[in-house]
Amino acid sequence: MKEQDIIELDGSQGEGGGQVLRTALTLAMITGRPFRIEHIRAKRSKPGLLRQHLTAVQAAAAVSSAQVDGAAVGSQTLRFAPGPIRGGDYRLAIGTAGSCTLVLQTVLPALWFADAPSTVTVSGGTHNKAAPPADFLIRAWQPLVRRMGAKLDITLRRHGFYPAGGGEVVASTEPCGLQAITLIDRGERQALKAEALVAAVPGSVARRELERAGAQLACLGGRVRELPAGEGPGNALLIEVAHAQVTELFTSFGERGVSAEAVADHAARQARLYLESGAAVGEYLADQLLLPLALAGGGAFTTVSASSHLLTNIAVIEKFLPVEIAASAQADGRWLVEIG
Ligand code: AMP
Repeated sequence: MKEQDIIELDGSQGEGGGQVLRTALTLAMITGRPFRIEHIRAKRSKPGLLRQHLTAVQAAAAVSSAQVDGAAVGSQTLRFAPGPIRGGDYRLAIGTAGSCTLVLQTVLPALWFADAPSTVTVSGGTHNKAAPPADFLIRAWQPLVRRMGAKLDITLRRHGFYPAGGGEVVASTEPCGLQAITLIDRGERQALKAEALVAAVPGSVARRELERAGAQLACLGGRVRELPAGEGPGNALLIEVAHAQVTELFTSFGERGVSAEAVADHAARQARLYLESGAAVGEYLADQLLLPLALAGGGAFTTVSASSHLLTNIAVIEKFLPVEIAASAQADGRWLVEIG
């Protein structure tokens, strides 16, 4: 690789987390441009590549026959030089409860530019703090990228909660073109419902979470899902807010020493903030829609805030693609993100 062609990235910029690396991997594959990143995940308590990030690097390397230096657990520097993107059957094991969904989000957009259909199976964590739960990918992210034209089908085969892991998610996808979408208003409310997942955790915990969330939000529907004990231990409360244009999903995880009521309050607070904001897209979905929209070459959405994940992802995307992305505060308190 010619040194002058390399995109240089500082992993400590902005949010300073794994997203800087994941976005770079995806866009390097798609643009064919190599990059070097230093200070990987410098702002996290355990900096450098964890198993999850290493699996994302290995997945990207497999998909694009890349030459890679620095792919080891703990590494804070990486050089990645991609070759052509090849469709195929990819199987990846994170080996810890690291997030399967973040590995999937790294390679799926690249496979939209492949030469053949693909299936990607990832084992590890499916319901992790600080990552999109598999339900979020399936119910919130997937419908919107499908609306952009992506051919995508994600299935949660087995739940994997932190710290045990052992979950599995499978996605099948095909080469496709992407079109811009605009999400300014969310449209009419269609559903507000909660689901409490328990695996090897008493059902009473789930019932208390639902009762509290229902009182906080006047939830129309609530259901307990008791998963096979072997998929646990784990507990999550999911609150789905569906409108005509967009479905949002707010999640909170049970943990030792945190009451069921506190778990419910956390998810309900996120849902209430979103509902009161009038924005089409919540904080997490906002930073996860940027890359598909940038690949589509345009689009716009309103969101609740300009999170540091959002601003950092904009900066990384603009290094690879000839797009301009603006986030501006609106008089009504929402943020408008325009990609063009
Ligand atoms: P990073 O911290 O840089 O590894 O990025 C974490 C990613 O996970 C970001 O894209 C966040 O939007 C996403 N994320 C974190 N928590 C949630 C959640 N509860 N629901 C959906 N996405 C999430």
